[in-house]
Amino acid sequence: MALMKAQIRGGICLNAHPVGLAKMMETFKRRTMAAKGSMVGAAMAAGKELPKTVLVLGCSTGYGLATRMTAAFSCGADTVGVSFENPPSFKRAASPGWYNNRAFDYMAKSEGLYTVTINADAFADATRAQIIEIAKRDGLIFDQVIYSLASPVRTAPDGVMHRSVIKPVGKPFVGKTIDLVTNEFKELAINPATTDEIEATVKVMGGEDWELWMKALSDAGVLAPNCTTLAYSYIGPEHSWPIYRDGTIGKAKEHLEATVSRIDQILAAQGGKAYVSVNKALVTRASAVIPVIPLYISALFRIMKEMHLHEDCTDQILRLYRERLLAPGSMLTDERGRVRLDDWEMRDDVQKATATQMIYATESNIELITDISGFKTDFLQANGFEVPGVDYHARVQYE
Ligand code: NAD
Repeated sequence: MALMKAQIRGGICLNAHPVGLAKMMETFKRRTMAAKGSMVGAAMAAGKELPKTVLVLGCSTGYGLATRMTAAFSCGADTVGVSFENPPSFKRAASPGWYNNRAFDYMAKSEGLYTVTINADAFADATRAQIIEIAKRDGLIFDQVIYSLASPVRTAPDGVMHRSVIKPVGKPFVGKTIDLVTNEFKELAINPATTDEIEATVKVMGGEDWELWMKALSDAGVLAPNCTTLAYSYIGPEHSWPIYRDGTIGKAKEHLEATVSRIDQILAAQGGKAYVSVNKALVTRASAVIPVIPLYISALFRIMKEMHLHEDCTDQILRLYRERLLAPGSMLTDERGRVRLDDWEMRDDVQKATATQMIYATESNIELITDISGFKTDFLQANGFEVPGVDYHARVQYE
């Protein structure tokens, strides 16, 4: 029987292994369940309540999945998830998140938790209406709403389709990136984005859609008093800013951060609050396609693992709940009101050591001096490959 192998093109894995993904989900569940005691302890010590009903937009992979798992299995919350994944066919595997959602629903139900997962375009008004209808039907009042969408394209409610681009703003970008299959370094030269491209990226990855969600949920009366909503963002080291923070995606993230005060106004009457949480760079479908980031993450992982500071999406979100959302007093934020889960990544010693690794990394020593193998393992495992204990020679049923 043929070996089922990952098919990787241009930083994207084109297939997914259902059995490998199911095994990964079991591990995530074990880890988040194991954190239950400390989560309950944190809430009691702070005199706060664990979340009861959580809506996760972008629930199927990466940070959104880690949040849904933590809300459900560490906090015992009922969850509603929205994501947009390709279902399987007889011949073709589904996208990874489709299998993750299926596993999540099964595991949550077997723990007696309420779970509803919708496979639909979260940017569409019809999806908002569908979630509100479900909430009213089942008597759900959301005390947390997590906004964790990462998408290259959005059709706005006026029917106009916007496409995001990863480009610098104002001047061209020249930098190194790495081919995940061959370890080949590639010089990249990317021309600055046009005004239309900047605007389109802000439309897709900025805060407009988050605000539409919070307004619709608030108007429908399905938000709890003191509801907290969080959207995820990234800043990263200065050397990545020309392509990231100062580029088109950064403009979108600035817009997302500026949306917090508008959502605060929507929630003010009920005592609710919006936050942007700036998270650590990690290997997800979204991050693997950003130039420079795979090389940076490989160097960063090496350093953070050596310093015993490394975290994956699950560790980050467990820390978000335990040490931020459920910590005593008001939420710990930076001077601009942002939650900073990238605090360890951005430490001076971590950044200096990472920058040095990047300077010395070449095609021939990359395996030795960075953790590119860790990057690749995370990347493959996010698609169900290279998961210990899985027989990749066995026949796989996609559906
Ligand atoms: P991801 O690609 O793993 O997940 C994206 C999610 O969005 C998936 O569930 C996908 O199904 C869903 N989605 C995409 N388009 C959709 C649509 N039209 N309708 C419904 N669902 C849709 O991405 P991620 O890396 O977890 O990113 C999530 C957020 O976290 C992003 O805002 C990202 O910028 C931020 N973030 C990521 C990193 C990182 O290194 N990965 C670091 C900090 C912050």
